[in-house]
Amino acid sequence: MNTKPADTPFHAPDTPTVLLEIAQAVSSTLDLKELLKIVAQRTAAACGADVCSIFLWSPLGDRLVPMMSQTASGQQMDALWEEFKRMASHSREGTLPIIAAIGQRTPIVMDDPATSPLLPARWVEQFRLKALLSVPLIRQDVAIGTLVLHQMTDDKPFTEVQVLLASTIASQVALAIENARLFQTTQERLSECETLLAVSRSVSSTLNLKETLVRVAREAAVAACADSSGAYLLDSEQEVIRPFASYNLPDWVLEPFQQTPLSVRTFPLVREALDRMAPVCSSDVPADPRCAHPAIRRLAFQSCLFAPMVVKEQLIGGLFLVWWQKSHTFTPDQLRLMDGVARQAAMAIDNASAYHEIEALNVSLEDKIAKRTHELSTINAALEASHRRLQELDRVKSDFLLNVSHELRTPLTAIKGSVDNMLDGITGPLSEAQQRYLTRIQANADRLVRMINDLLDLARIEEGRVQVIPTYFSLSGLTSELLDTLRPVASEQGLALQLADGADPLIVYADRDKVGQVLMNLLGNAIKFTPSGGIVNVELAEEEPFAIVRVSDTGDGIPPEELPHIFDKFYQVQLGRQAKAKGTGLGLSIVKSLVELQGGSIRARSQVDHGSTFTFTLPRQPLVQAQETTTFADTEQTR
Ligand code: ADP
Repeated sequence: MNTKPADTPFHAPDTPTVLLEIAQAVSSTLDLKELLKIVAQRTAAACGADVCSIFLWSPLGDRLVPMMSQTASGQQMDALWEEFKRMASHSREGTLPIIAAIGQRTPIVMDDPATSPLLPARWVEQFRLKALLSVPLIRQDVAIGTLVLHQMTDDKPFTEVQVLLASTIASQVALAIENARLFQTTQERLSECETLLAVSRSVSSTLNLKETLVRVAREAAVAACADSSGAYLLDSEQEVIRPFASYNLPDWVLEPFQQTPLSVRTFPLVREALDRMAPVCSSDVPADPRCAHPAIRRLAFQSCLFAPMVVKEQLIGGLFLVWWQKSHTFTPDQLRLMDGVARQAAMAIDNASAYHEIEALNVSLEDKIAKRTHELSTINAALEASHRRLQELDRVKSDFLLNVSHELRTPLTAIKGSVDNMLDGITGPLSEAQQRYLTRIQANADRLVRMINDLLDLARIEEGRVQVIPTYFSLSGLTSELLDTLRPVASEQGLALQLADGADPLIVYADRDKVGQVLMNLLGNAIKFTPSGGIVNVELAEEEPFAIVRVSDTGDGIPPEELPHIFDKFYQVQLGRQAKAKGTGLGLSIVKSLVELQGGSIRARSQVDHGSTFTFTLPRQPLVQAQETTTFADTEQTR
């Protein structure tokens, strides 16, 4: 350090008082420019210097930027300052030795700047540099800038006391600058958040891709203070970016913009941004070789920024911001903000296209459903037609059955009558052989009559011609009568017919003839399918509002796989087991219909070689419409 005693002695003020004054001054504002102005003026005054200038390192730490210069008296030196700024920051000349020197962390004192090799003579003359003192601004061991004091009149070199005072003030100033910067950063972050929030709000309020991108372009331009902006979508196969939406484009640009996809290969700035997946900018487009694209040259804007839109690691396009006249200085914060905006835009595009895909899927689903519905209704119509046709055929078949049965019955009755008469001896005595043949004819005629009767019954039931005429009668009485009739046949087969003691007399409200037909049928089957020595039992019970009839036997039983079908028309258990089965397979079907026509129901339980039980119900009182009916599962089996 090179200091010498001053000719005009410097009267050092009381240091704590100066520091307090400066502290008060700097705490009055958080605006950096305002703060630097106050600090520069107060420092010059406190240190007895004519001028105080403040330099700060640029955010990237690559340049020392002149920020403020003030005289002790507060007198303005604007023209000189502008000139100084221009000379100090002239990039083509490189870093001036004096600037490099004051960027160091040690104080510099120059009593005679005119002789210093660090200072260009032009400066010494222009800024009237008679003495110079530079102290670093250090905060947490990092140099954030420099405080430079200088004298414009002769014979006022800086003393050690002044150097000490300036250094003390510098450490306080560094703290104040950092606070102001922190505040500024906080403000900037806040405004970044607000921008991102605004972008997010505006893009999430629509799923229309075009509208989304127009909004994004606008928000990005407003946030970056750009004049115009455009949103491009990437066609990676063709290696071009295609314009999709724009904001604030001058009319004469609008049309070429809309029509011209930009080739990525011939626009290195865009290529770089896409390769790095990060925003890339240019403050001086005309001089920037990365912007030597013919279309860009024609548009002749001053600054630009391209922020790629990336979603799920995929490049889908980019935002292009333009400053027409002004050379824009880009800060890292701004680049980061534009990166955020572009990524948000990419997400919005992704959402919008996902939505469109879903929409398209829905449309195609709806189409498919409509097609299937149409196919189904065609099939339904065909089914209905064939159902009607089948019903018609069924009716024709029933008619046919009815007619044929009628026609068959008349000659059969005549045959049977004649045979009966012959067997009764009306036509004279019969030889043993004649008797034998005629008896066989009689048995077969009886069988035929039974079969024709079954067919007639079925046809009548199916045509709805069967009329039920209910009356009150004693079910026990009817059952006893029928058992008495059948007893001779049963005993012939070595079977016992029993009526279990039950409620006597059990009165029911039903069609006596039809109940008789049902009972005869069930008892007939029981006798037919029970071997000699077995028992056929009828049990009557009441279970209000129904009477219950159980016809059980100790016969062959029905195999479980056959049981579910025995009430079907024409169904007969496979021969072999029951060699006796020679009916029509209509009996149980008719029984079921007759029981149900009277408001009852029927079910069967059976166990092979142990016998079968048929249980049916009959109402005891007239049934009110839709009144309760018992419903059995038609068949059951016990094992
Ligand atoms: P079918 O007139 O041929 O006897 P049904 O409809 O009356 O016809 O009976 C259907 C089938 O059910 C018969 O072929 C017979 O095999 C079986 N079946 C009916 N009742 C009994 C019973 N009590 N014991 C064993 N099998 C029976």
